[in-house]
Amino acid sequence: MKARIAIIGAGMGGLAAAVALRGFGFEVRVYEQAERFTRLGAGIQMSPNAMRGLRGLGLESAVRRRAFQPRTWSNRDGSSGAMKFELPLGRDAEDRYGAPYLQMHRGDLHEALLSAVPAAAVIRGKQLVEAAAAGGVRLCFADATTKEVNLVVGADGLHSRIREILLGAEAPVATGRVAYRATFLAALLRYPVGECTKCWGVDRHIVIYYTTANRDELYFVTSLPDAAWVSESWSVTGEMAVVREAFAGFHDEVREVLRACPKVHRWAILERVPLETWSERWMRRRISRRR
Ligand SMILES: Cc1cc2nc3c(=O)[nH]c(=O)nc-3n(C[C@H](O)[C@H](O)[C@H](O)COP(=O)(O)OP(=O)(O)OC[C@H]3O[C@@H](n4cnc5c(N)ncnc54)[C@H](O)[C@@H]3O)c2cc1C
Repeated sequence: MKARIAIIGAGMGGLAAAVALRGFGFEVRVYEQAERFTRLGAGIQMSPNAMRGLRGLGLESAVRRRAFQPRTWSNRDGSSGAMKFELPLGRDAEDRYGAPYLQMHRGDLHEALLSAVPAAAVIRGKQLVEAAAAGGVRLCFADATTKEVNLVVGADGLHSRIREILLGAEAPVATGRVAYRATFLAALLRYPVGECTKCWGVDRHIVIYYTTANRDELYFVTSLPDAAWVSESWSVTGEMAVVREAFAGFHDEVREVLRACPKVHRWAILERVPLETWSERWMRRRISRRR
């Protein structure tokens, strides 16, 4: 009999796990709390090791078609714009690491992963509230339905309920820094900017890159000190005026990007303390409880 596997969360991790496990012949269902998926504004850098993973999942060409391949990663001084060092990417990185370094919209990566899982295997509007050992695992959802499976994979993000059930409640650690992030039409710029640039200030930086093969979309993400802000959510927006002010002393290209950008998301950067184990502790706990 094939093992029945439930994956909680249809984000990047959950969908990638679903594609891989289905490839090994397992019966997989992904349970996602959201009712629908939207192309929310953020870029993602796909390093060669990530691209090797996507190659293994059969998604390399789909991702290459949409993504932008920068020739270099430029590191510049924030205020003067002077080049600090330039990392060769493009063909150089591909020859060296056997896979490309790409940049893309997270929504496009998500769509590519989603396209590799049958629609019926991704069940939306299913928020996991409880999981308990019951031969295999019994899952309970917010809509009062239950499911019994042989194995459950927790891919439910930073505020993981599965992690809480396995290991107990533990709040994420606030880094005291905030990321403002936005994707917007590159046509709003008065002139084209560098392909991929990180501009370094004393206590802040901004990363700017194109996210589409035809360069019609630009992305930026900041890291700024802000100890008071701890909300980590896709729906929380910020003020462009605040971001412009924070980078007012940066060079022209940064100011042009921030001038052109119409709206922005504000995202506290949170961390998790690394775990000793991802599964054994739960097994031990469950086993010792049964004794
Ligand atoms: C500012 C910033 C920049 C980043 N840049 C990069 C980058 O350039 N390259 C890179 O590789 N990584 C980057 N990362 C990291 C990357 O975004 C994350 O590692 C990745 O998104 C995590 O994926 P995930 O599938 O684990 O979680 P998520 O993408 O958060 O997905 C979790 C899913 O689980 C669902 N869910 C949650 N709880 C439940 C529940 N109880 N029941 C059912 N469903 C549930 C959620 O709705 C969501 O769909 C960045 C992160 C940040 C914050």
